[in-house]
Amino acid sequence: MSRALSACCWLAVCLFAPTAASAWGYQGHHVVGAIADQLLKPAAKAQVQQILNDVDTSGIDLRKAGPWPDCVKSVVRHDDGKFHYEVDPEHLEFEVPCTPFNSARERARMVDYAARNWSTCSYAPDGFERGCHNTFHFVDVAIQRSVFDRNLQGTNPHDLIAAIGAAVAVLQGRPIPPPFPFSIKDKKEALLLLAHLMGDLHQPLHVGSVYLDANGRLVDPDAAHKVDPDTDTIGGNAILDGVAVPFQTINLHHEWDDIPTDLGDGATSELVDAAKSVAPSQGTLDGWPAAWATDTLLVAHDAFKGVSFKPTPPPARSKWTATYDNHVDYLQAADAIKRKQLAKGGARLAELLNAIWP
Ligand SMILES: [Zn+2]
Repeated sequence: MSRALSACCWLAVCLFAPTAASAWGYQGHHVVGAIADQLLKPAAKAQVQQILNDVDTSGIDLRKAGPWPDCVKSVVRHDDGKFHYEVDPEHLEFEVPCTPFNSARERARMVDYAARNWSTCSYAPDGFERGCHNTFHFVDVAIQRSVFDRNLQGTNPHDLIAAIGAAVAVLQGRPIPPPFPFSIKDKKEALLLLAHLMGDLHQPLHVGSVYLDANGRLVDPDAAHKVDPDTDTIGGNAILDGVAVPFQTINLHHEWDDIPTDLGDGATSELVDAAKSVAPSQGTLDGWPAAWATDTLLVAHDAFKGVSFKPTPPPARSKWTATYDNHVDYLQAADAIKRKQLAKGGARLAELLNAIWP
């Protein structure tokens, strides 16, 4: 990746990114899906093709499916309680990955999904209710931990790992295990979710998080047995990139959402080869999502290596600013981590689907 190009891209991504955390930019979700498309065995490939393409859609593969839950973020709830899919005229670029779903019936599907998964939990990170479905994309486990566990702070019954479990259950024709509050109405919805969430699961800042005191020192929410909201960095969204402070818009989370520009938005042979050499998952399928979360949590340890934090002076909206021991080294390490994680995401999405439909 060219350093200059990547800096440009980060700026573009961050200026135009939605306020809610969106995980890998849509290119990352395309890449993860495209790798999985190549690694599906015939039975799973046939199922995926049939489920994603009904009377309303055609030509949808896992690559195109990947961005769907981010497209759903364009569904807004009006004061009268009604839900609408709204295109932001100032951000038409948000619609680019959503064009496969822009028919009236597919928009209606997104509205229906968002409405069913809106009030099942409260999610208002900035004071506005954003809809429970926005929580399906992440967990915020403290990076002091090394093993994912559902009892840890930063997990909840409607988090990323629970959502993957729910989508898998629907694809297997099983009921969603209680107490998880998901409404997934059919296999198409489940697969649209899973294709995306397996990407999110491999973005290190969607799993591991830092909790910081007012001076930018690490605090441990598990030792306190609760998350103090004042210490919550919202998966790095509340941390400005110290190198980019003049722009006041780039945060650490969004930097990690962006992928190396030379990867484009498909499956390069480099990444397909890397995906083929990802070690097969151990144990039963039910345990895989938590094991993968542990794996990503360990990667998050590396993502926070060589970074420290200090309070951001007002009037910046973000509380903390990241500074780097060596920024060039950090970017280089991040580039390598992203390639590895995209390959793992694609490999494991395919592994999961091949296991569901052997
Ligand atoms: Zn996401």
